[in-house]
Parts: sequence; structure tokens; C-alpha cells
Amino acid sequence: MEEKIRSIVISGKDYKEKYKQIVLFSLEKGKINAILRGVKSPNAKLKFAKELFCFGDYIIVDGKAGSVITSCEPIDTFFDITKNYENYACGAMILEIVNCVTVYNEPNPALFLECLKALKILAYEDVKPEYVAVKFLVSIFEGLGYQLSLNKCSCCGGPFVNKRFLNLDSGEITCLGCKAPNSIEITSVVHSVLRILSSTDYEKLHTLKLAENSEKQTLNILLQNFEQRFSKKLKLF
Ligand SMILES: [Zn+2]
Repeated sequence: MEEKIRSIVISGKDYKEKYKQIVLFSLEKGKINAILRGVKSPNAKLKFAKELFCFGDYIIVDGKAGSVITSCEPIDTFFDITKNYENYACGAMILEIVNCVTVYNEPNPALFLECLKALKILAYEDVKPEYVAVKFLVSIFEGLGYQLSLNKCSCCGGPFVNKRFLNLDSGEITCLGCKAPNSIEITSVVHSVLRILSSTDYEKLHTLKLAENSEKQTLNILLQNFEQRFSKKLKLF
């Protein structure tokens, strides 16, 4: 049976001599593996459809060896992301995060939309990629039940007045009084960067100018949290 699925290529590897096995994150079916035949020759019609970030309507057919892609109508290849190393690294990290937090055949339209918005900003807006990565990660934690407490201590519910800490065991932010043993301190600057980025729409990120390096410190904290939650180390770019 032939099916049309709206998808983004999140990973790919060589498969047999002339095939590519790619991982699609689709709106309709969530994450799926699919095979592209004969796309390694320079003249192959569907060459573009194997590239990371490619977003389009993929036609797949179920075969003996799994889903096979028979055609693809591109919507956006997000080629512009590859023009700058940092944007590319950030985009690749976003795809890696999606691949890590999703399971096969379980649709997640909210994550699909969030991923597309982030890639669009990386490709077409002049925004520090760290801003996009921080915003994306905050939404990932929220979507998966590890919401970061930005205004009140997650433990006692009190306001943050002195120091604040990220509990690496639970992924929650607490005040000094509620600090758990396995915690790292979050500076008030990092905490406010989290607050600002999470409450600013992707389309408005280009208007922000945060303190120098604060975005790198914030991303670093979130990557530690990600590693603790999902046992996956991501590289800071
Ligand atoms: Zn507290």
C-alpha cells in the first residue's frame, strides 16, 4: 500500500551497495525507517531526499525489507542551514535530540512542529544558534514531563531569592533550602536566560540581545540535564 507522509530526514546511513537507509520523523506516523534505492549516483532523481533536514511529502510503500521511498515532493530542504558551521551543528543537534526522544511509529505533532520552527529560524534568520537550541531544549523537557521551574522553587513553591540549583536526579530547579545532594548551581543570569528564551516566540528571537556568553552557559546546563534524563551526551558547538 502506498502512503504519503509529511516528513523530515533526521538520520541516514549507507545500506547495501546502492541504498540509503534513512530515518524519517513524520507528522502522521512519528519516527520510521525507510529505504531509498539507487540514490548514490550523481544523477539520481531522489538524491535530495536523503539529505539531513530535507522536509517534504514522502511516498512510501511497504516492502519485505521495510518501507521503501518511491518519490518525494520537497517542501524545504533547509539547505541554508549548511552555509554556516555553527548553524549546521545546532541543526544536527536538534535532529539528534528528536531521534533520541522519539520512539518508532508514535506520532508527536507538537514535537514535529517545534522541530520545523527551530530549523526554519536556523536557516533563514540571523539568530545565535544557541538561542534556538536553548528554546528547543526547554520545550523538549516540558513536553516530556521534566518542566524546568522558572518562577517558583519546584519543591517548596517559594520564590527564588538567593541561589538556585538544578537537581540532576529529577531535572527540577530548587531554591537553596530545598537543594538536593546531586545538584549544580544555576546562576541568576542563566535562570533569566531560560525564562526569556522560553517565553519568546521563535520568530522574535532575532530581537533579543542577551549578556555575552550567557547563552553558552545556559546551553551547557541544559545539555547536562539532557544527558542525565536521556543518557545521551550532546556536543556543545
Ligand atoms: Zn524550595
